[in-house]
Amino acid sequence: AKKGKDQYAVFEPSMRESFQRHLEMEADLRRAVLRHEFQLRFQPIVRLATNEISGLEALVRWQHPERGMIPPLDFIPLAEETGMIVPIGEWVLREACRQAAGWNAQREPGNPLSVSVNLSAVQLERVELTELVSSALAESGLPAQCLVIELTESLLVDHRQETLDRLAAVKALGVRLAIDDFGTGYSSLAYLRRFPVDIIKIDKSFVDDVGDVPAAAALTLGIIQLGQALQLSTVAEGIEDAGQLSELTDGNCELGQGYFFAEPLTPEAMQDLLFPPTAA
Ligand code: C2E
Ligand code: MG
Ligand code: MG
Ligand code: MG
Repeated sequence: AKKGKDQYAVFEPSMRESFQRHLEMEADLRRAVLRHEFQLRFQPIVRLATNEISGLEALVRWQHPERGMIPPLDFIPLAEETGMIVPIGEWVLREACRQAAGWNAQREPGNPLSVSVNLSAVQLERVELTELVSSALAESGLPAQCLVIELTESLLVDHRQETLDRLAAVKALGVRLAIDDFGTGYSSLAYLRRFPVDIIKIDKSFVDDVGDVPAAAALTLGIIQLGQALQLSTVAEGIEDAGQLSELTDGNCELGQGYFFAEPLTPEAMQDLLFPPTAA
């Protein structure tokens, strides 16, 4: 590119390409909504003291007809920008409740699994959120206390009274709320006072270093103790090895999630994990 005043002519070929890709992706995403190209994976959330599965997190995937499986971080931002997260998120919620209710029907009644669903800020802005959640529960038969809605701290930054009221209405249904990626946002502690949170999910970046960086260990244990003091459940995200697990177990972290236990699984693989097929 030339220097001088030309530096303001910023629409370069590479940008045209990326703009073009963006438009294609947007068109693809619209089609994906109409053609139901989304799938769910489920990752177990494990009670560390007993090693039993206490819940599952539902994680969306996009099965693109040409590009293959697209992970959420590659399309959720665009879906949020274009508002398409609304129909996608609605499908995720209904499907996650339906699957969880189906698994619970195969378990002892006294020991149901809970299912966690990630919610975007865009979804929280919608007035119909409460009706959506209550209809997903009613339709599936999943008890409200078995549903956890995960919110990120960035979502809570813009905490207008309306947002708070809507969260309170969802919580009044009996649903639990979790703060996802806890510790990565700005002013995490302030949110704990303002929002009716039940669960803290300790971000993977703390868990990564818990076995070998003293500061990370101190922060992680501090978050666990904070959770206990506030009577909140704590979930450690992204546990990948036995060393991390033993630090967290020693620190009395209640729950954990990560590749050490299982990756996000297809519904079929989750079915086999929960109800191992017996050899005939
Ligand atoms: P998240 O909610 O924090 O989900 C945890 C992410 O960490 C998942 O990535 C999971 O596969 C990954 N993970 C779990 N254990 C490990 C581990 O031991 N090691 C490593 N390296 N990674 C681990 P995934 O499925 O790619 O999702 C990424 C993010 O996309 C999620 O982060 C969430 O913020 C967003 N997301 C996923 N599904 C949905 C959805 O249905 N709606 C919305 N709004 N966001 C979603
Ligand atoms: Mg999450
Ligand atoms: Mg997270
Ligand atoms: Mg890391």
